[in-house]
Amino acid sequence: MNKPIYKRILLKLSGESLMGDKGYGIDPFTVNYMADEIKKAYKLGVEIAVVIGGGNIWRGSEAQAQGIERATADYMGMLATVINALALQNALEKQDVDTRVQSAIEMRELAEPYIRRKAIRHLEKGRVVIFAAGTGNPYFTTDTAAALRAIEIGADVILKGTKVDGIYSSDPVKDSKAKKFDILTYMDVIRNSLRVMDSTAITLCMDNNLPIIVFNIRKPDNLKKIILGEKIGSIVLK
Ligand code: UDP
Repeated sequence: MNKPIYKRILLKLSGESLMGDKGYGIDPFTVNYMADEIKKAYKLGVEIAVVIGGGNIWRGSEAQAQGIERATADYMGMLATVINALALQNALEKQDVDTRVQSAIEMRELAEPYIRRKAIRHLEKGRVVIFAAGTGNPYFTTDTAAALRAIEIGADVILKGTKVDGIYSSDPVKDSKAKKFDILTYMDVIRNSLRVMDSTAITLCMDNNLPIIVFNIRKPDNLKKIILGEKIGSIVLK
């Protein structure tokens, strides 16, 4: 097992994955760790796109609860993802990984606008493409953005990096009896309301037959091992 089993992947990282143990914002040590994990995968020759969340800085639904109008709160959340994208880009470039950030909301001074064909061209040229600003629309999540972008660019799989080892029957951090699933169908996830991705993201994957692997990104080499075909985490399929 020393050849990638995928040609093109989409890695979904939550904003919280850049936060480390800080509780808010960006931890430079953790961002460097994520860049390192991506670089190990990159060196295998697989094409890598990344969708980054913003929950370490801002979540629209939480801000709404505090009285900010939802659409505005969501745009603020999308801006948070741009901050994270730039942090990840910086860490990757420091490690000599060629990158491009494409934003779903135009910010030409700091990122390219999202152009599907251009993103694909970057991937073909061996650049890591980081998609920022989610879908560009309020009322969506970056999980849905990950599903959408993965389908648009023809990724073979979505790899969702989390802090737990896969998909469980209940939250393994809170429930010691939580059972881990190795393989699930999209319908299993929907019927049992398993916390994999929101329902919009799951149905988009289901309708387009795009597999999702949920895995622990905090364990070094996991990303690389999955790309080389090791059965790590939980997979959601038809
Ligand atoms: N968001 C949005 N549209 C999108 C993607 C994200 O409005 O297409 C907003 C939404 O407010 C969300 C925030 O950006 O709460 C941060 O994204 P998300 O919660 O998905 O980040 P993650 O949980 O992955 O860190």
